[in-house]
Amino acid sequence: MIRLNIVFGEFARGCRQCQLGIKSVLFITGVCPLNCFYCPVSRDRFGRDVMFINDRPINKFPGDIIDELDRAGSNGLAITGGDPIMVVDRVVELVRLLKDIYGQGFHIHMYTHALNINEEAIKKMAGSGIDEVRIHAINPAQLNGKLSLLRVLKDAGIELGLEVPALPRFEGEIIKVAEVLITNGLISFVNLDELDVSPANINNLISMGYSRGPMVVSLVVSTQALR
Ligand code: SF4
Repeated sequence: MIRLNIVFGEFARGCRQCQLGIKSVLFITGVCPLNCFYCPVSRDRFGRDVMFINDRPINKFPGDIIDELDRAGSNGLAITGGDPIMVVDRVVELVRLLKDIYGQGFHIHMYTHALNINEEAIKKMAGSGIDEVRIHAINPAQLNGKLSLLRVLKDAGIELGLEVPALPRFEGEIIKVAEVLITNGLISFVNLDELDVSPANINNLISMGYSRGPMVVSLVVSTQALR
């Protein structure tokens, strides 16, 4: 199988760190109220409030996270799930702690679905010191009522991007999402990732008529490249 990364403009800082292997990955909760048909999260984790750092189970929060960051020599952290916004207080506590320990240059980004954001959580995130938030939405309706909340994050100096899997037959809708976010001046990058296939989503993907092709493509666009 051929793997291809197509890049227009520059990678977001969080992506550059991952490329260099200097960023750890924290699965901060498996909780998410949504049920995306393409969700690749293991059913052992999905819906359960469990944590893993670099795929190691976390028993002590935040001690096990600090231990692993030190062991790995990481310069940053990617916070994923589930949806991290479902445990926003935990995210905020951790971001503040890590910035205290490692300094403001320790780069932290997280993922969240637009449907899960709300005013209370956004206010907490805006004051947390987090560097970058990657928004997930696959059609413009999922952004209804959310743009003003994203503006709060943007105005707080948080870099925003759109990151979704490159879903066949959803291309037009995903482009509309990007257009809405770009024309409102909210995002500085778009990442269209390879679609992860896992035991959790394989049956759904087959029922959608998807099949394996000869090539896996990831597309990264800095919105500056679009201007
Ligand atoms: S938002 Fe993410 S974790 Fe939640 S169901 Fe969709 S793909 Fe899975």
